Amino acid sequence: MDRCNGPNVDAFEKELAEYVGAKGAVALRSGTAGIHLALRLIGVERGDMVFCSTLTFIASVNPVLYQGGIPVFVDSEPESWNMSPLALLKAFKWAERKGKLPKAVVVVDLYGQSADMEPILEICRGYGVPVIEDAAEALGATYKGKKCGTWGDFGVFSFNGNKIITTSGGGMLVSDDEKALSKARFWATQARDKAVWYQHSEMGYNYRMSNVLAGIGRGQLKVIEERVEARRRVFARYKKALGDIEGIDFMPEAPFGRSNRWLTVMTLEPEKLGITPLDIINALAEENIESRPVWKPMHLQPLFAGCEYFTHEDGISIADKLFKKGVCLPSGSNLSCEEQDRVVKVVRRVLERE
Ligand SMILES: *Cc1c(COP(=O)(O)O)cnc(C)c1O
Repeated sequence: MDRCNGPNVDAFEKELAEYVGAKGAVALRSGTAGIHLALRLIGVERGDMVFCSTLTFIASVNPVLYQGGIPVFVDSEPESWNMSPLALLKAFKWAERKGKLPKAVVVVDLYGQSADMEPILEICRGYGVPVIEDAAEALGATYKGKKCGTWGDFGVFSFNGNKIITTSGGGMLVSDDEKALSKARFWATQARDKAVWYQHSEMGYNYRMSNVLAGIGRGQLKVIEERVEARRRVFARYKKALGDIEGIDFMPEAPFGRSNRWLTVMTLEPEKLGITPLDIINALAEENIESRPVWKPMHLQPLFAGCEYFTHEDGISIADKLFKKGVCLPSGSNLSCEEQDRVVKVVRRVLERE
């Protein structure tokens, strides 16, 4: 292990690995860096295909481009909004017919909720393709009683400013493959060979987390369980205050896991209500309250025009539907009841105006 990083980095890695139940972890400057290193460890190279969840933040997919890979997008299923095993199987069958399988699959745990990992892993293992679990939003969440981020061959967390715990910016790569992790550590520190002088035989990056930020991360990790409970309480209050309205619903919690409810996402049936998510977002903005639409799916991004996309049902994209009807409400762990009441009041006002 490199000695130049300091005691907090080593300790933060150890503590996080222990918390999630992985054999090891590498502390990095971002979650994006973690996904990038995982793809390179798996051996993704120019021209290789990588299957990715379409409903996600672009950081799940940009690293595929860093490696010169070709993303292929997979739709969500309605139960968890995460990667549909049905759509994934369709993508594999298509790849099989083409005679070229993907090098890796990036599965996202959206808004703090686990994807249905068992069927997904069964399909991927059947084809011998490794899985990266992008759990950037899902620290503290579980799937079948085991922590999110530990189901794939590699798992990635983010401590960016908006995440459930933060180091202002940072990430962690976790795995049970300790040999792979030490390679990641080597690449993350400019791939410096073991020599007295500065010698380099491989290309590296400046991806390592600083000791100061790792110290902050250690403090944050101590309160993760409280943060999860706080975020779940925020969700429960929104649901109680708005759940009775016809045409309004919330992101479901699939029975296979426990979400950290990183963000509370409300859905509207525009045909029933006569209003769209943007009406709500704009009304909240007038009161200086920030809310956002659901992530715009990757297959709809101009950057990925022309990429292949496989839907959950033939001709029907679940991710498109969720994008059209979802609103991410203010969900901070320290959101007060008064602040939350203000949000609820604005939402009710918009609904009654129609
Ligand atoms: C935040 C996030 C990332 C990237 O994390 P950074 O630390 O900001 O690089 C990756 N994937 C998802 C789904 C995220 O929400």
